[in-house]
Amino acid sequence: MNNLTKLQKIDLDNIWHPCSQMKDYESFPPIVLKSGKGAYLIDENDKKYLDAVSSWWVNIFGHSNQKINDALYNQANTLEHAIFANFSHKPAIELSRSILEVVPNGLSKIFFGDNGSSAVEIALKLSFQYHQQIGKTTKTRFVALTNAYHGETIGALSVSGCELYNKIYKPLLLDIFRPTGPDCYRCPYGKCRDNCDAECFEHMEKLLSEKHNEISGVIVEPLVQCAAGMMIYSPVYLKKLRAACDKYDVHLIADEIAVGFGRTGKMFACEHANITPDIMCVSKGLTAGYMPLSLAIMTDTIYDAFYDDYDTMKAFLHSHSYSGNPLGCAIAVETLKMFKNENTIENNIAKSEFIKEQITEKLLDIPYVGEFRQIGMIGAIELVMDKETKEPFDSKKRVGYEIYKIALSKGVLLRPLGNIVYFMPPYIVNEDDITFMIDVAKESIIEYLKRENIM
Ligand SMILES: *Cc1c(COP(=O)(O)O)cnc(C)c1O
Repeated sequence: MNNLTKLQKIDLDNIWHPCSQMKDYESFPPIVLKSGKGAYLIDENDKKYLDAVSSWWVNIFGHSNQKINDALYNQANTLEHAIFANFSHKPAIELSRSILEVVPNGLSKIFFGDNGSSAVEIALKLSFQYHQQIGKTTKTRFVALTNAYHGETIGALSVSGCELYNKIYKPLLLDIFRPTGPDCYRCPYGKCRDNCDAECFEHMEKLLSEKHNEISGVIVEPLVQCAAGMMIYSPVYLKKLRAACDKYDVHLIADEIAVGFGRTGKMFACEHANITPDIMCVSKGLTAGYMPLSLAIMTDTIYDAFYDDYDTMKAFLHSHSYSGNPLGCAIAVETLKMFKNENTIENNIAKSEFIKEQITEKLLDIPYVGEFRQIGMIGAIELVMDKETKEPFDSKKRVGYEIYKIALSKGVLLRPLGNIVYFMPPYIVNEDDITFMIDVAKESIIEYLKRENIM
């Protein structure tokens, strides 16, 4: 292995990194970070990287943001953590008020978890137990879409539909109904996501009409299936889903973990379809990328089915050690304050337009760019072997990964999803940052194609 720093050596001796084949690190060792400031990460050799993926979709207001640092510092000096059963504290109470002000109308009760996957587990358990307690005991199964991603714990992984992450674990997983979901780039109906009538909803409709007696809930990522490659679909699908869930008495669980907090141009993606889910899961941007915290937010109807004398045994006996962690809550309160005071959602409109202009101008004439899709602050290009047939590159070629390594050497963190190169920067990026991000993406893609002798 070539010239590792002391820290890199210790890292590789001891640490197993997430979502990684550790053998890859032989030729591409971990980049050891020293600090972060604004949209940039800085490594131990003082090289800067523009964090174009918001450090896995969590960061919102930049790294080491002074206002959030202060909120964290003040809370740490007041109360760092305490048991949340029978006890409460101001950060959680303030958060309950400020989050309920911004979520879709009709959501009114909050259960605290400590990461996205745990919020999904909470939502599934709530939905299941609800139906048991109101006497609809045959409603025991869940529905999730093809290409879904809902996290990595066994329940969350069960509802995830990305084979890459769950295939080997199949024997361990819950038995899920999985109707074919939207696939707008390769739409089997020959339609376009901007003006279709979500014809693909027929699969869901058929399943719900036939099996609703067995179904407790449907979980979806509203509007963008992020992990599957920023697959954007029509809000009409969500409208139809809301109506069908009402008709067939099935919970609609919206997993807003990735798309919440402004990523799609609205505070929550459900707003594009003007719907209220029965349970909404949020995490990631909730703490602006600072701390693990998640919420499952639900209607009174669900809450009420658990509310009774103790000996009816209807309570929700779920807990996590760090439920309602005050540090996370204080940061979330500050995050929501910043959204309000800094008009974040409105200010992002011009930024997302600028991202679109830059991509349109610089990336679309590269011969292997099959589709450019964008919603709000999420932009993605899908690279394909053949633009006519939309034939994908062989995943074994690891096209995105190779481009990612080139882009890193040029100072942009563009961690891909297979053959999809995407941009999901923190909202504090300015026009210079965006220009730099897209320029480097262009140079890196072209450098890769030339190296492979296909351009
Ligand atoms: C990231 C993500 C999760 C899982 O959250 P973790 O905090 O990583 O457990 C669940 N659902 C969606 C849509 C996500 O993007």
